[in-house]
Amino acid sequence: MATTEQIPLREVSLNDHRSLTVHRFGQPGARPKVYVQAGIHANELAAPLTAHHLADRLKAADEAGAITGEIVLVPIANPIGLSQILSANHFGRHDMETGGNYNRGFFDTSAAVLERVEGALGHNAAENTKAVRAAIADALDAIQPRFAIDDLHVKLQQLAFDADIVVDLHTDSDAEMHLFLDPLNWPNAEDLAAELGIEVVMLARASGNNPFEETIAAPYVSVHEAHPVEVPLSAVVELRGLHDVSDELARQDADGLFRFLQRRGCIAGDPGPQPAFKGEAGPFEQTVFVWATAPGIVAYKKPLGAMVEAGDLVAEIVDVSALGTDGARTPVLAETSGRFFTRSLEKLARPGQDIGKIFGTTPVEGRTGNLLSD
Ligand SMILES: [Zn+2]
Repeated sequence: MATTEQIPLREVSLNDHRSLTVHRFGQPGARPKVYVQAGIHANELAAPLTAHHLADRLKAADEAGAITGEIVLVPIANPIGLSQILSANHFGRHDMETGGNYNRGFFDTSAAVLERVEGALGHNAAENTKAVRAAIADALDAIQPRFAIDDLHVKLQQLAFDADIVVDLHTDSDAEMHLFLDPLNWPNAEDLAAELGIEVVMLARASGNNPFEETIAAPYVSVHEAHPVEVPLSAVVELRGLHDVSDELARQDADGLFRFLQRRGCIAGDPGPQPAFKGEAGPFEQTVFVWATAPGIVAYKKPLGAMVEAGDLVAEIVDVSALGTDGARTPVLAETSGRFFTRSLEKLARPGQDIGKIFGTTPVEGRTGNLLSD
């Protein structure tokens, strides 16, 4: 039977009581263990709404005895960010206490785990996986979080670190559905991409500053290089854009996740034939940002999902203070050929700001540094 637990979060000020709500379905310890969280970026509201619809379906399945694995669902992964209202505006992406992006700075336990399992691993993947999980648990227990954001991060990792499947629900600004995965998870995760109707799958490892899903996979990935181990499927699902929030979309996406979990043997029942994956997949290095090079107002010239050629005009940055249109527009050209799959809802541009992404047909030479924007 489904249960709900409240995990207290550290107080930032006196009498400031906050907690993580954790729904649990199936039998504790059953496999596969699935962990789903939503809204670590607390302004991405399609994510918790989807989690809410998924919880409803999981509750009914649990009551029917159909949960064959274990499912842990955190519908609001960031109660701190959800409460950050400043002058009537909600700020949920960055932490107002530290300035940090909520989905950066999770704890990479790889080094501590490698040290702990040194000499203890053999040829049996299941035994090695057990040892790695125990080492991660120890490493997470040893962390002394400094700020409230760090306390939140550790508690989320403690809920997720030993899962076989981890799904972190987000949205982009204005976007088609896309997925971030470790390269080891592809094409294994094609069923997830297909059920959700994902358009772009980006395969990335160490893309910059320890986002949640990468730190979950990281210790297993680092062990995997020398020993057989079960690397979890750890995915970020970008559920379109910030404004794509509706019961209809959330239910559709929750149904897709439910069928995916049926295919993975975590929920009994027939999900029907697996749909074909119709999107594009490749290394994150194929993704090229579209940058604003001048201050002004963004006027897009290509719709979401457009296939563009390198050199195509994708947007203009308009200097609305100019008298007349001559010289008032700075063109923004595609730097690669591919699919224009994200844009910015924020139309006030400043130089250096990314105002979109193109998933190119080939990896871009010289793509270095952090692959994620902040
Ligand atoms: Zn996000």
